[in-house]
Amino acid sequence: MLNMKAYLLLAFMSISLLCLTSLVRVSTLNPGRIPPSTAVSIHENEHWTYCRMCNSMRPQRAHHCRRCGQCVMRMDHHCPWINNCVGEENHYAFFLLLLYAFLLSAVVFLLCMLHFWVYPKCQQCDKDTFYVKHSIWFLYLLTLLAANMTLVMGIQLIGQHFNLLIDRTTLENMQQSPDPSRIHLRSTFTAYEEMCGRKRSMMFLWLFPCKRKTVFSRGVSSQTV
Ligand SMILES: [Zn+2]
Ligand SMILES: [Zn+2]
Repeated sequence: MLNMKAYLLLAFMSISLLCLTSLVRVSTLNPGRIPPSTAVSIHENEHWTYCRMCNSMRPQRAHHCRRCGQCVMRMDHHCPWINNCVGEENHYAFFLLLLYAFLLSAVVFLLCMLHFWVYPKCQQCDKDTFYVKHSIWFLYLLTLLAANMTLVMGIQLIGQHFNLLIDRTTLENMQQSPDPSRIHLRSTFTAYEEMCGRKRSMMFLWLFPCKRKTVFSRGVSSQTV
């Protein structure tokens, strides 16, 4: 039977693995690049705009990223930390990266707090489980970093969650602040279903950065693989 130490290690390693996988996925996935020869009918083309830099048409809510030199579907922003755009097709992986980075930081912060304040005073606790055999200055540094990362990731996560609910992107908010009188909150399930591209019956898969969402597989049709 696994002891407490093994459970903690398992939880930490699982979150770390999911965090690392999300990072690799969001960095390497196509964010929703618009092919130069996207064939659309006149009806579909009605609300498209022209990008002078790509010299081609693009759908509504697509933006041109100067760093990547391409137009991206429903572009949220260009993230220097992942060296990629965040757009229609990799937004879910970016959201998962924020979620797991937040959880990982929170777990590290929690363990630091236990080490400093809770377990030294506890008579019945298994101290060997929580004592870390490192220099004390390293633990202080780790606590500060973990607290900082938890705060930053938490704020980013809440911001992304709110943007999803009001169906706006970071770029759209930067270009024009949302009008409070016109804000319409969508259902949480609808918002996440749209971002993840999977049905509610497969909600457990929303937590894994393993699927591939393809917007431009055939013309402008959307499909999930
Ligand atoms: Zn463009
Ligand atoms: Zn970019």
